[in-house]
Amino acid sequence: MPTGEQARLHRSRRARTLLSERPQAEPLLRFYLVLLELQSLVCEGMAVERWGNTVISPEEQAPRLRLEGLPLDELTPRFDAFCRSFTAEIPEPIYRAAQVVAAGQEQVRCDLLAALLKGEDVMPEARDLGCEAAALAFLPRAFLQPIAEAISGRFETVNNSVSGPRCPQCGWPPQVSVLADEPAAEGNRRLVCAFCATAWTFPRSVCPGCLVSGEEGLEIHVAAGELEYVRVESCNTCRRYLKSVDLRVNGLAVPLVDDIATPELDLWVADQGFEKITPHVLGL
Ligand SMILES: [Zn+2]
Ligand SMILES: [Zn+2]
Repeated sequence: MPTGEQARLHRSRRARTLLSERPQAEPLLRFYLVLLELQSLVCEGMAVERWGNTVISPEEQAPRLRLEGLPLDELTPRFDAFCRSFTAEIPEPIYRAAQVVAAGQEQVRCDLLAALLKGEDVMPEARDLGCEAAALAFLPRAFLQPIAEAISGRFETVNNSVSGPRCPQCGWPPQVSVLADEPAAEGNRRLVCAFCATAWTFPRSVCPGCLVSGEEGLEIHVAAGELEYVRVESCNTCRRYLKSVDLRVNGLAVPLVDDIATPELDLWVADQGFEKITPHVLGL
């Protein structure tokens, strides 16, 4: 799987193709394309090697990276520039949050980055700043994601046979599941990390939300027609779901992008009372 700038170009090409094929996803895809553009600027002149050595765990156990150890003093000025780079073409609550964060004290920006890296929510900051929490949380996640991906790409996954429900590299939950024929296994299932985009092998029949399998676990929903390659895997036990992109049915799909480009599936499954294991970076 390509990493870093190459991966962003690959995602960007796929998003442009889907833009013409899936008009119902146009606002999300346009926003995503703006984000990919800004994320490639984040990575310019980045000290990935040095930061990677700071956060790599000395123990050979998951998660391999302790990203909460990233140097916030170096990242905060870059985060400021990132927040300033948005224009009014993105959704209004996020644009407003970006302006408020850019105009605030440096400590505000530092706290937001720290909260995201420690897995804390940003409710206190949202209250203080008068912003929507989801819009505010978008900013540090969108900024740090390419950094996490670049660092993660530098280090091999500890043990590819490890099949936990969390990313072996950074500890985040999965965004999307992928099915593909691989040399070692036909129809192999991998989960793709919602933060650093690492893909790791995970049993096909097990729910990554609660680890239940069998009838109490996953129910697979396959739509007929053009979306046949995007399955919805919902769990009868924890009532959560994620989508699974079947590359054997559509080899052109790019799972993280096709997840964003299929909002009608999220709306349909939410209507059935299921919650996504993790919303994607744009919030669905
Ligand atoms: Zn990860
Ligand atoms: Zn479950």
